[in-house]
Amino acid sequence: MAHILIIEDEKGISDFLKEGLSEEGYEISLASDGEKGLQKAMNNSFDVILMDWMLPKIQGIEVTRKLREAGNQTPVIFLTAKDTVQDTILGLRSGANDYLKKPFSFDELLERIKVQLRKPQSKINHILSHEGIKIDKDKREVKIDNREIHLTQKEFDLLSYLLQNKNKVCTRDEILDKVWDIHFDYDSGVIDVYINSLRKKIKSVKDVNIIETVRGVGYIVKD
Ligand code: CA
Repeated sequence: MAHILIIEDEKGISDFLKEGLSEEGYEISLASDGEKGLQKAMNNSFDVILMDWMLPKIQGIEVTRKLREAGNQTPVIFLTAKDTVQDTILGLRSGANDYLKKPFSFDELLERIKVQLRKPQSKINHILSHEGIKIDKDKREVKIDNREIHLTQKEFDLLSYLLQNKNKVCTRDEILDKVWDIHFDYDSGVIDVYINSLRKKIKSVKDVNIIETVRGVGYIVKD
């Protein structure tokens, strides 16, 4: 049975979620503030964490960051009323896996939880290369002309995805789906921010622009 931790300070919401998810057969633990949530998440093994954004003591985003820094990779789904692109980017950068805006439908939440539970945990042994850029997916290492560059988790996933699909246009929807695991209508502005950041990091080492924009559609890496 999958075990879900709900970190939420509004009792009405956490009770509602606990009841609904228990009926679906999940085992539920609750934490009513960020500090308790972080403690529980660190000391137990959960399959998914549902995380409120605005929490007493430690904010949800900070809890997520601390978990990731400690090497904890439990999938985190944010439940939040914050809905601007900037907030979305912050949430995903902190290491969250998905993001659901309040008010959300319970059925949609269930689907998103299932997606996180389905995700394969095993890594693919793979090395990708293009124009002097070498990605080692096992070591999660990127080198350009043998110089290592430091990418965030999502930048790495995004670059890997584009290189894996070399010579094919990757649409925004595909990128959100495959890199962010987001399958519903969503502001794709977050992708541009990551593409810009990737281009800058690559350019700081080598004067190339390998990622081309296909206006209105997405991005492509060409041979
Ligand atoms: Ca709250």
